[in-house]
Amino acid sequence: MDCPVCSNKDIGKIGRSKYFCSNCFSEVSINKNKLNIFEIDENGSLVKTYEKFLKDILIPSKQLQEKYNI
Ligand SMILES: [Zn+2]
Repeated sequence: MDCPVCSNKDIGKIGRSKYFCSNCFSEVSINKNKLNIFEIDENGSLVKTYEKFLKDILIPSKQLQEKYNI
């Protein structure tokens, strides 16, 4: 799937519903109907930068639904 932050195509899957983008260092986590984006700060901890209900970004995009396996 593409990174929702920078559209990098090399985003890697790191968990069942987690992805990590090595281009912008964002972690994308999908939890139930929410998409959360975290960034790693200088201390190495995850900072939530973005939270959005999936229905707001996925409808009507069936293509995105398939990308995120919703
Ligand atoms: Zn990215």
